[in-house]
Amino acid sequence: MRIIRVRYKDRAFYAALTSPETVRCLNREEGLEDDIPLSELELLPLVRPSKIVCAGLNYHDHARELDLPTPEEPIIFLKPPTSVIGPGDPIVRPSCSSRVDYEAELAIVIGKTARYVPENQVAQHIFGYTCANDVTARDLQQKDGQWTRAKGFDTFCPVGPWIETEMPDLNALTLRAVVNGELRQQGNCSDMIFPPAALISFISRVMTLLPGDVVLTGTPAGIGPLVAGDEVSIEIDGVGLLLNPVIDEERQDPVALQ
Ligand code: ZN
Repeated sequence: MRIIRVRYKDRAFYAALTSPETVRCLNREEGLEDDIPLSELELLPLVRPSKIVCAGLNYHDHARELDLPTPEEPIIFLKPPTSVIGPGDPIVRPSCSSRVDYEAELAIVIGKTARYVPENQVAQHIFGYTCANDVTARDLQQKDGQWTRAKGFDTFCPVGPWIETEMPDLNALTLRAVVNGELRQQGNCSDMIFPPAALISFISRVMTLLPGDVVLTGTPAGIGPLVAGDEVSIEIDGVGLLLNPVIDEERQDPVALQ
């Protein structure tokens, strides 16, 4: 099932796609029993996570590309919930960075609270899968020595286009970043160092994952820059295609200018 979050007649709810043009409300709400045309809905960001937990260096080919050793344990970091945007929303390049990169990633949406979950029970805690772009200010990542600013700007976590609830075969999942129609990054989820079950089990031994939280599973080799005017899509076979335009930040922060 493919699930989106929408607003219709002043009510916000999750809905399942019943055709390419129609959805059905997933809550049994009065007056919402029938299919609703997509054209009459306002699309909302797919998720409202309490946190976004990301894996750094989780693909063998990406570790080789950066000439870094394969990590012995997952390297995790956070993106703030305010970084989430939906399909079609612009990625804003902050004026304080001169290098903003795309990172194609498989995203996992948590469905059930997870704490100390063994790997063989992780599947019960997963709501579904979607595409994400772990947008990164690469120059600030290097300059700061830690990643909060580089990964945390508003608009730096495009997620979508929907949540696919069918469990995909990870070995068959190819993910790509395509910029202006040109293939820039391609990898296969089977190249992950820590597959989703291992990753989520590990995270759940650190912090409680809540329903709606998002786990980004890392990016393969081929990261590269975005400039204003670009259109970047993250595509995962069997999951979906997430397209976002790129713009430059217009307003300078007056506090920073003092
Ligand atoms: Zn990443």
